[in-house]
Amino acid sequence: MPTNRFSGFPRRRASDQDTLIDAQLVELAYQNLPAMVAVNIAATLGVVFLLHAAGASGIRLWFGLVLLLSMLRLISWVLFKKYGSVANGLTASELTANGSRQYSATWMLLYTLGLLSAALIWVWLLYITFQSTASEVKFIVIVTISSLAGGATGITAPLKYAGRIYITILLVPSSIIIYSASNEYWVLSALAIVFWGAMIVNHRNNHRVLLKSLTLQLENKQLINNLQTLNADLEQRVHQRTEALKQIAHHDALTGLLNRPGLIDWMEKNLSAENPHEAAVLFLDLDRFKQINDALGHEIGDQVLRMIAHRFNDVCPSDAIVARWGGDEFLLITEQSTNARERADLIAHQLIEVATAQFKICDESLGVGLSVGMAYFPTDAADFQDVIHAADLTVAEVKRSGRGRSLIYDDIYAQTQKRRFDLGRALSEALKQNELTLAYQPVVNVLTGDVEALEVLSRWHHKTLGVIDPCEFINLAEETDRINALGDWVLYESCLKFSEWVPQGSAIKLAVNVSIKQLLTPGFSARVNSILIETDFSAKSLILEVTESLFGEEHLDATLKTVVTLREMGIDVYIDDFGTGYSSLSRLHEFPVTGIKIDRSFTAQVDSQGVVIIESAMLIAQRMNLKVIVEGVESISQLKKLSSLGVVAMQGYYFGRPSPIPHIESIKPIWCDVFLKE
Ligand code: C2E
Ligand code: CA
Ligand code: CA
Repeated sequence: MPTNRFSGFPRRRASDQDTLIDAQLVELAYQNLPAMVAVNIAATLGVVFLLHAAGASGIRLWFGLVLLLSMLRLISWVLFKKYGSVANGLTASELTANGSRQYSATWMLLYTLGLLSAALIWVWLLYITFQSTASEVKFIVIVTISSLAGGATGITAPLKYAGRIYITILLVPSSIIIYSASNEYWVLSALAIVFWGAMIVNHRNNHRVLLKSLTLQLENKQLINNLQTLNADLEQRVHQRTEALKQIAHHDALTGLLNRPGLIDWMEKNLSAENPHEAAVLFLDLDRFKQINDALGHEIGDQVLRMIAHRFNDVCPSDAIVARWGGDEFLLITEQSTNARERADLIAHQLIEVATAQFKICDESLGVGLSVGMAYFPTDAADFQDVIHAADLTVAEVKRSGRGRSLIYDDIYAQTQKRRFDLGRALSEALKQNELTLAYQPVVNVLTGDVEALEVLSRWHHKTLGVIDPCEFINLAEETDRINALGDWVLYESCLKFSEWVPQGSAIKLAVNVSIKQLLTPGFSARVNSILIETDFSAKSLILEVTESLFGEEHLDATLKTVVTLREMGIDVYIDDFGTGYSSLSRLHEFPVTGIKIDRSFTAQVDSQGVVIIESAMLIAQRMNLKVIVEGVESISQLKKLSSLGVVAMQGYYFGRPSPIPHIESIKPIWCDVFLKE
């Protein structure tokens, strides 16, 4: 281990510590310099006075030299104070960086020159004294020089070599001069040598004590410094760790996007309800993602989500953030700005565009869609969770009304949501308590006036919410998976009641509406079969009405299988609301359906555009040997027009409204008269 070149102590950080100690020793030496010069001048004045009185020669020159040297030394002190005093307050590395080691050495040299010159001048004085003066004067000069040497053990302690040389120059030549002046003085001369030895030892001890205290002081400082850096380091590491943990806790593992807590944290940092500008909150819900997940597995689903996240990130502006809210739901939130609304429209458009672009995964081309619900902070809600909820309600509305587009939040959605919630709960109760009732509407053969079928329609009169539109509660039942319970009940109840209204052996059939969700529920045909058995109802008398959603690509295989089974059981299957859904002509051919019910919207326009649709539907039906029923006939003119097009089976208010007690008598006379009159 290297040692300090002044103290001989082992050192841990050799160069830094040396530099600091050197600098501090020089500093200390210069601190003592004015006192030393003052003592020198005082001693000089004393001896000059004595020697002058004793008439010693050359004393003026000597005095002049002392004054000059003292002045030069004081000047060196002033210069040091101004330019050299760097040790105080500086750290080792700062000093080392300043190259202050050389710097200290230069000042030390300057100091040493002054010191040694002073010693030589005193030796010279002793010489002068011993040439010519009286013994008392000589004695006084010897005492003075000895005192100076004695004082130097302390005052020059900072300087290991210079101090000792100073003492040596003061005492050793003096001893020689004394001895050579007269043999009688040999005791004095010997005493001077003994004194010199003692003073050198004294100086060495003083120097060691000084070095030790400086080293300790320095080590203390370094310890404190080290502790401080250690502390700062520890703090920084704790901070880094905390940040890293936060990073994990705030990000979604699959996509790398922010997750829910991460997004809320971002909102807290970037949005403020006090800011007068708006921030756009875009709730992004993928369309048809579930099908991909179900059909191709979760791994492919995950890949799609990652790619989608990547695409969303690409179109996300720099002052906005994309986060994964969960499943196939994402959120994009912008910072508050003056034109949040225009920008949000543009962003929504871009997001839909990138989401719908096809993916290539394992050589398969896949596609999803995107529905976007937009709400504005703080206009729509000044609470982060609430504004996200508002955007969520909006996207639910988009999903209900067709998907693949964006919509801006409206208070009505919150009300709708509330009503849906209330209705949902009430519907569960209604099903348990048998609160639903049934109404029957006749389908009439206009040539014979006979009722061909009775379509059964659900009715719900809630004690506090009033009469609920079937479209509303049927939709709700479909969305909340209560449709199976409802559908089973309708089928069971109507089959059971049918025999009460319709006499045995009648040709009148029962038409029951079936939602696509029911049809897709595994075991549907088996359930229908068991209800028929339980109610002792003939399959041949049953018509099931399903909308064109039957032909949806995503479940084609399943629906086809069920329809085939139903047909094999002898049940008729009609396409309801024909013309409003999928363009289904080719599919009609593939499915063994037995009839179509042309939607009432075409009847309403039978005098204009509606006629084309009805005509072509009639043509197709004839070719495919399908029964055609036209719905929504409300007037005699519609009846006439439809008759002229060859329509035979009709349904509508003109023939009879849905009623709890079905009308089964032939109703020909009502319109027969009209035809007869013409
Ligand atoms: P839908 O199957 O098309 O039923 C015919 C709807 O048209 C009935 O409405 C009926 O009241 C109405 N309607 C009949 N004739 C006329 C007319 O001349 N003019 C006008 N403007 N409307 C007429 P409702 O009862 O409100 O039922 C609406 C829909 O709810 C039904 O449409 C059907 O899709 C569904 N639905 C009703 N009950 C059930 C059910 O028990 N199960 C299922 N799955 N759906 C049902
Ligand atoms: Ca129907
Ligand atoms: Ca219909």
